[in-house]
Amino acid sequence: MVSKNTPIIIIGAGAFGLSTALHLVRSGYSNITVFEKDDQIPPVYSAANDLNKIVRAEYEDQFYTDLAIEAVQAWKTPLFAPHFHQTGFLHCVSGNAPDKAKDTLKRFQDASNNHPYLKPHVVPLNGKHDIRQLFWQCNGQVPGWKGYMNRFDGYAHSANALAAVHRETQASGVRFFLGEHGTISRIVYKDGKCTGVRTKSGKFHAAELVIVAAGAAAAKLVPEVGSQVVAKSWSIAHVHLTDEETSALRGIPVTYARDLGFFFEPDPKTNLLKLCPMGGGYINTDTKTGVSHAPESLETSAFMPHEDELRVRRLLAHTLPKLANRPLVRKSLCWFADTKDSDFIIDYVPNTASSVVLLSGDSGHGFKMFPIVGDWVRVLLEAPDKKQAIARWRWKESNAKEEKENWGGDVSWRLGESRELKDILPGKTKL
Ligand SMILES: Cc1cc2nc3c(=O)[nH]c(=O)nc-3n(C[C@H](O)[C@H](O)[C@H](O)COP(=O)(O)OP(=O)(O)OC[C@H]3O[C@@H](n4cnc5c(N)ncnc54)[C@H](O)[C@@H]3O)c2cc1C
Repeated sequence: MVSKNTPIIIIGAGAFGLSTALHLVRSGYSNITVFEKDDQIPPVYSAANDLNKIVRAEYEDQFYTDLAIEAVQAWKTPLFAPHFHQTGFLHCVSGNAPDKAKDTLKRFQDASNNHPYLKPHVVPLNGKHDIRQLFWQCNGQVPGWKGYMNRFDGYAHSANALAAVHRETQASGVRFFLGEHGTISRIVYKDGKCTGVRTKSGKFHAAELVIVAAGAAAAKLVPEVGSQVVAKSWSIAHVHLTDEETSALRGIPVTYARDLGFFFEPDPKTNLLKLCPMGGGYINTDTKTGVSHAPESLETSAFMPHEDELRVRRLLAHTLPKLANRPLVRKSLCWFADTKDSDFIIDYVPNTASSVVLLSGDSGHGFKMFPIVGDWVRVLLEAPDKKQAIARWRWKESNAKEEKENWGGDVSWRLGESRELKDILPGKTKL
């Protein structure tokens, strides 16, 4: 058990780190310091520093469905409610979708229909007529689209939610170090136990417990994690609308064709409609170690691969054809921490005498859990046997050389194979 006045350091003020700070401070932990390498929160390096993220409750796996339902309840509490929009989730495949996408969709639909809590919110969709009943602005032909709408789901304004939790935790006494003073260059150990962290600016900060919530950068601070965590990215881009266009699309559901990608209702402040093609994602493997890391500079990631652009334009042509040929702005690859089985990792790092916790492996589906993820860390810290009770969230030994190369291909809910960043950088692709 960790006592309430233990000096605790959290590395990373993204979704998992901020949620942990919130739950720990709310539970009476009184000596918490958060280190973040960006000089602002929401940090530009956080995968959650984004206009929006899907909050959908249904998973193929009931374990996560139940957690997501709990998270949606928490999204409706005062701190989180201003950032949650229950617009519904229109989840389909287009007529040309490969079988893998159709099979995955069917499993999601079955999961929604078979869950007593979700079932009343689910409406089957079979083609244009059904879709327009729920999304009247959709004036494309939606060729062959089939699937369902789940009205229980929606999205969260993720950057604003991060900012709100930052304000709340700071007001509750959590200390924050940002920028050069907040960038952790390494965790410091003595006799197999962590004694604190050293920042890029050279300063040592003592702590009895360090929680690493560094997202895609986990393997840089905890190299022992090996290929358990793979830095992976998906691309996003936006269409800049007029005030009238934004207003006309107010309240549309999150619209997802598994084979083409998804978009959200436009953001009323910026008039940006965000698009994400998903797919198998992009990795950046160090050939010496077999471990993928996010590139150091954000500029390297400031583009959308050509194949992704074609997919999101097709998505718009099917649904909102007026927008299909508009310029795409604010393009980027967004990096997250992937695991082979899409399970999170919330556990003590072995051989650290329970002085370092790794909180990672969000696998691209972690933001919806933002209001509750920190509580899972509290439960681990308060476990009398210092063991992660949930087996699937435990540390797993790994050997990069023995791992299969294509993780993305193994995960049922991702379509397509992972590709190396070096092969898709602008100028490298064969158009
Ligand atoms: C394109 C895309 C779409 C997504 N869509 C969804 C979705 O629809 N629904 C959903 O639920 N989830 C979604 N996700 C996943 C979601 O964004 C992540 O699950 C979530 O952001 C993970 O939180 P995290 O705290 O682990 O990492 P992050 O939010 O990335 O935060 C990590 C933080 O650690 C900091 N850091 C790293 N190294 C250091 C260091 N050395 N010193 C100090 N600070 C450091 C970084 O600057 C960063 O702020 C998506 C992800 C991507 C990439």
